[in-house]
Amino acid sequence: MKPPHSPAIRTLLRGICKRCPRCGQGPLFRKWYTLFDRCPECDLEYQPRDGDNWGFMYLGTAFVTGILAVGILLLTPPNLWIGRVVLLVAAVVALGGTLPNRKGFAIAFDYVIRRHWDDADTSGPPEPVDAPTQERDPQ
Ligand SMILES: [Zn+2]
Repeated sequence: MKPPHSPAIRTLLRGICKRCPRCGQGPLFRKWYTLFDRCPECDLEYQPRDGDNWGFMYLGTAFVTGILAVGILLLTPPNLWIGRVVLLVAAVVALGGTLPNRKGFAIAFDYVIRRHWDDADTSGPPEPVDAPTQERDPQ
């Protein structure tokens, strides 16, 4: 019997928060951007096939770039050079600062897709349940 799975949104949030997409307990990164091969808690292999999450990484980068583009359209700096410098600093901070979060999102999205197609490693312990459910007696 397969372990119960958490909803996709929760799985993606775990990835964005740099936690294991399956158990939510183990960290994804050993250092700032050095990925563990497997979850220290549930032994999930984070990248079973190299390159599977590049597309999701691209989507995360495009999302942040889109936010910057909207900012460019909405803001009108008093001086063009000041605007360019502010945009450059904002781009470096936004793209560089969110790199581990976007990588975590990509790994979690890849996990959701693999789980959907029954390709994910489900041999680890079942996912923790947030709140215990109590079954009521139908009487
Ligand atoms: Zn885990």
